[in-house]
Amino acid sequence: MSTPDEPSPYATETHLIHGEFHSNSWDYADHIVPPIGSSSAYRLRSADRGAEGFGAFANPEFNRQQQAPIYIYDRLDEPTRGMLEQALARAEGAEIALAFTTGMAAISAALGVLVKAGDRIVAHRTIYGCTWSLLSNWMPRFGVETGFFNFVNPQAFEDALQDPRVMVVLFESPTNPTLELIDIAMVRAAVDRANAKRTKGRRIFIVVDNTFATPWSQRPLSLGADVVCHSLTKNIGGFGTDMGGVVCGPRLLEQDLLLYRKDFGAPLAPKAAWPTLVYGLPTLAVRSIQQIASAMAVARYLEGHSLVERVYYPGLSSHPQHELALKQMRDPRGDFSPGILLYFILKGGPAEAKERGRLVMNHLATNALAVTLAVSLGQVRTLVEHPASMTHAVVPVEAQRAAGIEPGGIRLSMGVEATADILRDLQSALASLGAR
Ligand SMILES: *Cc1c(COP(=O)(O)O)cnc(C)c1O
Repeated sequence: MSTPDEPSPYATETHLIHGEFHSNSWDYADHIVPPIGSSSAYRLRSADRGAEGFGAFANPEFNRQQQAPIYIYDRLDEPTRGMLEQALARAEGAEIALAFTTGMAAISAALGVLVKAGDRIVAHRTIYGCTWSLLSNWMPRFGVETGFFNFVNPQAFEDALQDPRVMVVLFESPTNPTLELIDIAMVRAAVDRANAKRTKGRRIFIVVDNTFATPWSQRPLSLGADVVCHSLTKNIGGFGTDMGGVVCGPRLLEQDLLLYRKDFGAPLAPKAAWPTLVYGLPTLAVRSIQQIASAMAVARYLEGHSLVERVYYPGLSSHPQHELALKQMRDPRGDFSPGILLYFILKGGPAEAKERGRLVMNHLATNALAVTLAVSLGQVRTLVEHPASMTHAVVPVEAQRAAGIEPGGIRLSMGVEATADILRDLQSALASLGAR
């Protein structure tokens, strides 16, 4: 038997399907597919066992990964979720993983255990909208302020770390929607320099939201991050059926994360953990390989299209940080793995580009089979969206530009349909512009 702490002779693809050889969470020796837990409370065989269970919960002496847990109540710990957590910890190369109801619940918990009133967070300026709102609207109520910096410029960002109140550095890579990359090793080096001047209890933690890349394309802990968060709702879940989130990190955070999750709530429900454990993770490798191959083909096609101004995809040599992509976006086999998302900008002045985007969306929504007009990302279906005419439609085009939203910018999340069909639908939608 091997645990996530020990090297395994088996490939990641195999572990994503089989999980561990044996789970301490549940002894289901005769099942191939793990069962779905469906009990909010657990029978305790004696009062003493109840006492033992409460004594073991969130106790640093008790290793959840190696000792059979005593289940008490779903909000504390639960076997289906526990099995998923073991598999996710292995996928990210983390000591521990804890699953939450959504990606936002996971991010809230990761920050919740790392900061207290008076501390500060340093975040990259481009960040998921709800994470931005959490940092800007809610954390200040608890006395935690966030400074936003451009992490692509290391100097501005390193100066910010001189503030002794900074306790967390937070970013995503690639970012949404322009697929900018943050050099994780560069952030590690800057934080190490800042930490060298600090006491152990005040060391800065690096938290990476790895949702866009998934552990298939990038493992931030191996590049220097301390904590990784994911929305399981996206490509790890992969089928678009359930929401979820996870925090992966060092064992020293496990007790606080368990206690935080117990008190703030939002542990992932076993019925939502099960599809990710049984369908999502086991197919992550094959789905990603297919999605990335399509993304590469679509990026090259769009780059050559006369109506396309610019294509952003880390796999293209025209991407401003292609060298960094080659360095840090690697699948567990070591192959280049530039992700399943791409972003492109239609040609034209602001108003014209916005109108073209709207027409392309409408054409796809009416005519396409392989490309679906929808928000979210990371599904077996190819999803397309045009922020300027959808999420930010009420913002005037000039204001959109000032806020960094390109009026003609379109985001594509590749699915696993035949590449030729995805290309056909895009070709026909772009051709419809010319035909007007
Ligand atoms: C979707 C998403 C989230 C939030 O996840 P939910 O599961 O919707 O709460 C956070 N970060 C990124 C990058 C996302 O794409």
